[in-house]
Amino acid sequence: MTRFQPVHRPRRPALWIEQARAIEPDAAPIEPLAGAHRADVCIVGGGYTGLWTALRIKELDPATDVVLLEAARCGDGASGRNGGFVLGWWGKLSSLTALCGGEDALRLVHAAAAAVREIGAFCAANGIRVEFRPGGAIWTTTTPLHLGMWDAFLGEMERRGIAALRALSAAEIAARTGSPVHLGGVLDSTAATVQPALLARGLRRVALDRGVRIFEDSRATALDRGARPVVRTDRGAVAAEMVILAINAWAASLPELRRAILPMSSDMVATAPAAERVATIGWTGGEAISDSRMMLHYYQATPEGRVVLGRAGAAHARLGRVSPTFDDAPARAAAAERGLRRLYPSFADVPITHAWSGAVDRAENGLPFFGRLNGDPRVLYGAGYSGTGVAQSLLGGRILASTALGLDDEWSATPLNRGIRSLFPPDPVRYVGGVLVRKAVERKEETEETGQPAGPVTRRLAALAPSGMRKGKGK
Ligand SMILES: Cc1cc2nc3c(=O)[nH]c(=O)nc-3n(C[C@H](O)[C@H](O)[C@H](O)COP(=O)(O)OP(=O)(O)OC[C@H]3O[C@@H](n4cnc5c(N)ncnc54)[C@H](O)[C@@H]3O)c2cc1C
Repeated sequence: MTRFQPVHRPRRPALWIEQARAIEPDAAPIEPLAGAHRADVCIVGGGYTGLWTALRIKELDPATDVVLLEAARCGDGASGRNGGFVLGWWGKLSSLTALCGGEDALRLVHAAAAAVREIGAFCAANGIRVEFRPGGAIWTTTTPLHLGMWDAFLGEMERRGIAALRALSAAEIAARTGSPVHLGGVLDSTAATVQPALLARGLRRVALDRGVRIFEDSRATALDRGARPVVRTDRGAVAAEMVILAINAWAASLPELRRAILPMSSDMVATAPAAERVATIGWTGGEAISDSRMMLHYYQATPEGRVVLGRAGAAHARLGRVSPTFDDAPARAAAAERGLRRLYPSFADVPITHAWSGAVDRAENGLPFFGRLNGDPRVLYGAGYSGTGVAQSLLGGRILASTALGLDDEWSATPLNRGIRSLFPPDPVRYVGGVLVRKAVERKEETEETGQPAGPVTRRLAALAPSGMRKGKGK
C-alpha cells in the first residue's frame, strides 16, 4: 500500500485563481468521489500534467474511460499559481543533450517551442480565454558581473542552427522592459505569457466536454497495488487498469521518488492595476522577463497593468513534505516585494494586492522525468519540471498518454521516459546542506547586485546548488 501526503489548502489566494473564479461561468466545484468505481485509466492530480494527459488519451482513443481525481480544485496547485511564462526549452539544450543525446535533445527543444504555439492554438480553438500573448521572453541581468554570460550559450544555439534567440543591447532592453536596472540580455522570440489559472480551468472544461470523469475535493489517500491497482480516497475508490500520478511536488513523499524531487517554494506578488504606469515605461509587449540569479526573479505586466513578480527557491522541503509554510511565508513575500521595488522603482507607490506561493518539483538536473513507479507497468508518474512546466506539461501529457495506451511512438520512446536519472543526497543531508547552500546563494547574489564579487567561501558553497539550477537559463 502506497500512502500519499496531505494537500494543504493555501491560506492566501493566488491572484490568477481569484480572477478565474470570478469570471468562470461554472465555478462550482465538482462533487467528490464517493463509492466504488472502475476505469481504464485513473489519473491522480488535476493540474496541467493530469489534464493534458487525460485530453491526449481521449484524443488518441476516445473510448478509453478516464477518471481524474483532484485533491482540491483543478488548477489549485502550481498550474493555477505560476508566473504564466510559456517558455520553450532552449536554455536546457545542453542538459537535454547530456541526458538524451544530441538528436533527441534537438527534437525536444523544437517540440517545446511548438508546444508554446500549440497552447495558444488549442485555447483559441476551444474558446479558452487565457490572455495568450506571444511577446517573447527576455533573460536579462541586473549586475555587470553577469554581462555576456549568455555569449557561449548563444554561440551554441548558432552552431545548432537555432535562430530563436538574440542578444539585446542595453538600450533595447530598457525600451522593452521599462526598467532602468536591466543592463543587457537575450530575447527568446518564441515564448509567450498566459493567465495560468484560466488555462488550467479551460483544460478542465474541455476535458469534461470530452468525457473525462473528474472528481474534485478527492485526494488520493492511498494506492493499493494488488492484482489491479486501486486508488483510495476518504469516501471512495477507483480500480483501474492503469494509474497515472500527476501530483507534482507532492510526489516527493513517495519512497521511490523522494530523492528524485525536492519541493522548493516559488513566491509571487502582484501590484494593483496601474495600466498608465506600465504604458509610460513602455512595457506593453507582453514580454516575460527574468534576471540571471539562481534565486531567480521572473515578472510580467498583465494586460490590466499589474506587475506580477515571482522569486524562486527561497525555501525547500524536509523529507519531501509540502508543508503549510510553503504557502504562508510573509518574510518570503516581503523579499519578493523588495525585488519588485528594486526592478521597477517607478512602481514604488503602487500597492501590492496579492502575495502567494507554490511548490516547485525541482529535479537535481532540472529536467522532468517519467516512468513506472518501482517498475510497476500499471502505475506511471511524471514530475520534475523544476519551475519550467507550463509548455512542457503538454509534452508530459503526450509521454504519459502514449505510455498508458501502450503505444510505441516518439513520446513513449523519449529518453525522458526512462524513470529517475538524477538523485539528491538523502535527508537530513539534503535539507541541512540545502539551507547552507541557499543562504550562500542569497549572499552571493545580493553582493553581486552591488557590482562586487562574493567571497571565495560563499562562492564555493553556492556552487553546490543542484546542477539544474546552476545551468538554468531564462526560467
Ligand atoms: C509559483 C510558481 C511559479 C511558476 N512559474 C512558472 C512559469 O512562469 N512558467 C513555467 O513554465 N512554469 C512555472 N512554474 C511551474 C509550473 O507551474 C508547473 O511545472 C506545472 O504547473 C506543473 O503542472 P502539474 O500538473 O505537474 O502540477 P500541479 O499543477 O501542481 O498539479 C498537481 C495537482 O495534484 C494535486 N494533488 C496532489 N496530491 C494529490 C493527491 N494525493 N490526490 C489528488 N490530487 C493530488 C494537487 O492538488 C495539484 O492540483 C511555476 C510553479 C510555481 C509553483
